[in-house]
This record gives sequence, structure tokens and C-alpha cells, in this order.
Amino acid sequence: MPVPKAELHLHIEGTLEPELAFALAERNGVTLPYADTEALREAYRFSDLQSFLDLYYALMAVLRTAEDFTDLADAYLARAAEQGVRHAEIFFDPQAHRARGVPIGVVVEGLGAALDRAEERHGISTRLIMCFLRDEPAESAMATLEAAKPYLDRITGVGLDSAEVGHPPAKFREVYEEAARLGLRRVAHAGEEGPAEYVREALDVLGVERIDHGLRCLEDPSLVERLVRERVPLTLCPLSNVRLRAVDVLEEHPLRAMLEAGLVATVNSDDPAYFGGYVGDTFDAVRDALSLTPEQLRTLARNSFLASFLEDDEARRERYLAEVSAYDFGA
Ligand SMILES: [Zn+2]
Repeated sequence: MPVPKAELHLHIEGTLEPELAFALAERNGVTLPYADTEALREAYRFSDLQSFLDLYYALMAVLRTAEDFTDLADAYLARAAEQGVRHAEIFFDPQAHRARGVPIGVVVEGLGAALDRAEERHGISTRLIMCFLRDEPAESAMATLEAAKPYLDRITGVGLDSAEVGHPPAKFREVYEEAARLGLRRVAHAGEEGPAEYVREALDVLGVERIDHGLRCLEDPSLVERLVRERVPLTLCPLSNVRLRAVDVLEEHPLRAMLEAGLVATVNSDDPAYFGGYVGDTFDAVRDALSLTPEQLRTLARNSFLASFLEDDEARRERYLAEVSAYDFGA
């Protein structure tokens, strides 16, 4: 039985497996520039964040209808359930779809249909987090937030993703102020390829409650001290870091050092179809590569639920934490 866990850093578009991409392409009459699923898998070799993003956006062309988004989310949830996920907070990128003529309503209703059945079908509770593309203008993010207003009953929070360098968090100050006014929870990618200063800015200017990635906080000891003191969760994605060359090999990933420093680290899959593993695979990989102790694995599982946005359902969080306490992590 896999470790019970929450997944807090997962882009639903990044769960598009080659097989589903081809199936949706056929259903929608879209031609993909790859001969078959093998040729597509070959293309999943990236040199950095940008080379991944180019393919990630290109493949989205197959997602057209609400049903496509339902199928995408349902496929993720089925895999996540097999990997021990009890709770998933799922990112989506409305601007990338809007730019292709797919309105946010289609995306949210499509994803929502899968999430509505997630508990019954897969035993997973869910939240939806709408991400803004940081390499697009702030005005576009604000327009997206405006367009999302009819669907806020389905959206728990906002996030910030895509190409980081040159797009500091402060660019989105007003958008996050408006999100806060609307009662939305706030997270942001920071310190993945961008500097430690972006992590600080995400906290101070955007008021985020979690940092997605945050790897480069390690370059600033006073920031690390603050993240420990304020118990700011970091949603780390070790397999993604290796694939996108943020670290050379998994054995050199600082996760273990981060846990030893007292950081509230969590382990997540980011874009599992592209990065070679879902979150259970990621747990296994870091356990082996970093020789994590049973207590460190338990801490990671506990952190995932403690860092989740389950404040509206504390009884559920307690149930999940009890499962972690009862789990045998080995000796
Ligand atoms: Zn991410």
C-alpha cells in the first residue's frame, strides 16, 4: 500500500499522457506533428524550463471541449489514487486555453465534472487552483480573474506559473490583491529558476501562503530562517527539477537537507506525464536516491496534509493525518 499523501503541486495540463493526447487529437480532428506515441515520448527530453513549456503549450491544442478536460482530470485522478493520493489541489492554466479560443467556463465545468465524482470514484478530495501565466501581462491575468468570477464556487485559490526569470511576483500585485478581496487562497511558483528574492517578494507583495518549488531559497540563509520560523510550506518537485536541469541528478537534490533544516517541505509531481513519474513514484525515487529515513518520509506525508487548503474541512484533515500516523514506513 502506497504512502497516504496530498498532492499540492500538479498542473492538470501536465498530466496529458501521449496516449490520451493522440486519442483527443483524433476525437477533435487535430493533427499532432508526431508520427506516434513513441515519437512524442522522444520529444519529452528537455534542456530547460522553456523547452518543456514549448511542448506543453503545443500539446494543449488537443484539449477543446469540456469532455476533454473531464477525461484529462479523470485519468489523473485514477493514477493518483493508485499512488496513495487522498487529496489533490490541482492547478490549471486558463489563459493558455483562452488564447486558443477555449473559454474558462469550458475548462472549469469540464474539470469540475471530474472533480465532483473524484471522491466517489477514486476516494480523493480535491481543490482547484487557477494559475496565471507570469510571462503574460498583468492585465491579462486581471482579465482572467474577472472572467473566472462566475465560477468562483469551484475555485479555491490562485497561483502563478510558466517562465519565471524576468517576471518577478511584484508584477502581479494588483491581481493578487483582487484575489484576496474575493476570498481566494494564494500560492505562487518562486525560486525554481528565478532568484531567492522572488520567494521573498511572493510572500511580502503577493501574500502567498505556500511557495511552489522555492528551491533557490537555499541561496539566502536569512530567507530559509524565515520560512522555517513562519512554517511556510514549499511544494517541491524533485523529478521536475532533474528533468529541467535545476539539479543535475536526483542524488544531489537538496530535499533531505531542507527537511533537516526544518523547512516544511512537501513532495509533488508538477507535470508527471512529462517528468517521468507521478507523486508516488516521486516518493519512492527520493527515498532511494536520498536515503530518507522512515521519519523523514512520515514528515513529508504529514506536511502534505498540513500544508493543504483543508481549513474548511478539518475533520477530513485529521482523518488523513491519522492514516499517516498509522502507516508503517518501515524501520
Ligand atoms: Zn509547477
